[in-house]
This record gives sequence, C-alpha cells and structure tokens, in this order.
Amino acid sequence: MNDLEKNLRAVQARIHAAAESVRRDPNGITLVAVSKTFSAENIIAAYELGVRHFGENRVEEAQAKIQKVKNQNPSAAITWHLVGHLQRRKTRDAVELFDVIHSVDSVALAQKINQRLAANKRIAILLEVNISGEQSKSGFAPEPRADFFAAVKEILNCQNLDAQGLMTIAPIVAQPPDARPYFRALRELRDELREKFPHCAWQHLSMGMTDDFEAAIAEGATMLRIGRAIFGERT
Ligand SMILES: *Cc1c(COP(=O)(O)O)cnc(C)c1O
Repeated sequence: MNDLEKNLRAVQARIHAAAESVRRDPNGITLVAVSKTFSAENIIAAYELGVRHFGENRVEEAQAKIQKVKNQNPSAAITWHLVGHLQRRKTRDAVELFDVIHSVDSVALAQKINQRLAANKRIAILLEVNISGEQSKSGFAPEPRADFFAAVKEILNCQNLDAQGLMTIAPIVAQPPDARPYFRALRELRDELREKFPHCAWQHLSMGMTDDFEAAIAEGATMLRIGRAIFGERT
C-alpha cells in the first residue's frame, strides 16, 4: 500500500468510527478530498482508490487540473466541489467547472452565479456562514438573524440555484472537541432554516477538515472537506 492509500483508508476508518460512535450512518457522510496544491496525477490516483468527490479552492488552479483529469480519464464520474472564496469575475468559469459551490457568501455573488447559468441549468450551492465571526473568514454573518434570513430569501429567488445547505470553517482550536460548538451552531442555524424555508431540504452541512472532522461528524456534518489527512502536508 502506498502512502495515499494508507492515508485514505485511515481517514475512511476514522469517519466510520466517528459516525458509529454517535449512531449515524456513515453512508450519509460524503468525503470531499480537497486536492488544492496537489496534482492531477494525485487526483487520478485517489479516484482509482474509489474517491469520487474532489474539492478545489481556486478557479484557475482547478481549471488546468480538471482538464487534465478529464483528458486522461474521460469517463471518470467525478463531482467537483469549489470550497474556496469565489470572486464575482470568476463565476463564468466556476459554473463550467464545478458541480457544487460551497462558498456562496453574499447575495451579489449568488445572483451573479445565477446569471451565468443557462435558463434550464442549475447548480448546487451551499451558503458559507462565518460562525466564529473571525475577521479573516468570509461567509454570511449569522447575526442579526433577520438580515441573514432576508439574504437567504433573496438567494432562494434565484431560479438556477439549488440551495442545499450550509458550510463553515471552524477556527483553529487547541483540542478538536473545542470546535464542536461552532459546528453545533451551524446545525442549529440549518434547523432554523428548515422551519423558516420548509420548501428546501437544507440537507447538507459542509463542515470538518483534517484537524476537526470527527467533531463535525458528531454535530451532523454530511460533507467533510479533507485535504492533508489524505494527500499529505502541503508545501
Ligand atoms: C484547504 C481547505 C480544506 C482542507 O483542509 P485540510 O486541513 O487540508 O484538511 C477544507 N476547506 C477549505 C475551504 C479549504 O480551503
């Protein structure tokens, strides 16, 4: 077994164990392998080991790599996730490249993405929420709630957007369990959205990375975005 396979199997085993420990079905949790800074060859190797969801954080970087992966393996059934901040001027390329955009962080960005899609085309989006309130992070402020709900309402008016849930990045904490309150807050916000906007399922909570994914699973994560634990440290 090479390092990639060892890492991947270890992550999968940890996801399984974390899910079972809170009596959740591990099949309800999607592993998104975050391949930023890693090569198309690394992506193909992970694909051959069974990974079907890949995450990138920059449009330009993803463009070259996705093309390469498609050239080498035209029949690969990959779901591509954009997990990093999206600039409005990159939305045209983003809707071509990605199947899921995790980082919708303003009404203006949502409307721009919506405009870029042909009338009959839809894209899955998640609303990024800055739960911790750190200046360095993007995302909707969850407070005041009235403002957040007003923004959600506008986004739900975008016909080409399929709003599927929420995404957050927890702060760096001393011990992984210390991240749980942030993940719990995102779940509670999702539960409020379900009450307020019941015509949407709000089925996804994208939360949990290399250092905190078990805490995220305990709080209901349905999508984990994991890079280093699979591909190794980024240089
Ligand atoms: C890089 C990145 C990840 C993965 O982080 P790791 O610590 O490598 O697991 C997840 N989400 C976002 C938004 C990222 O930019």
